[in-house]
Amino acid sequence: MRYPTRPCSRCFAPIVWAITQASKRQPLDAAPDPAGNVAAYRDVADNWRARSLRDGEEPLRYERRMMPHHATCSPPPPPAPRLVQPSAPPAARPPCPPGTPDRGSLPPNVVPISAARRRGNTRKHPLKGTT
Ligand SMILES: [Zn+2]
Repeated sequence: MRYPTRPCSRCFAPIVWAITQASKRQPLDAAPDPAGNVAAYRDVADNWRARSLRDGEEPLRYERRMMPHHATCSPPPPPAPRLVQPSAPPAARPPCPPGTPDRGSLPPNVVPISAARRRGNTRKHPLKGTT
């Protein structure tokens, strides 16, 4: 290959980025592939230009038959096994003592304030009623 290539970010295989007829970027395997279905060439600005080949269509004289890299890119390696055991599901909430209001809808670390509301707020506002 007498043209610059880049490593694929997933599999590190050498690829070239081509521009399709729809002006989209398409990665191609860097080496020409007789099984490929893309005809590609380098334009005067050294950009790869790619077009899909129909069944039985041959690349033109100035084109090479290339393989889209999506067809050959190997999947990334599986993630490393987890060393930490997944946490157990949270334990069931203990039953509320009888007579506890609203307890069923509150998390265990929250104190219901409905009892205080029923007694009435006896504190006065610090700025009101000081005359
Ligand atoms: Zn790849």
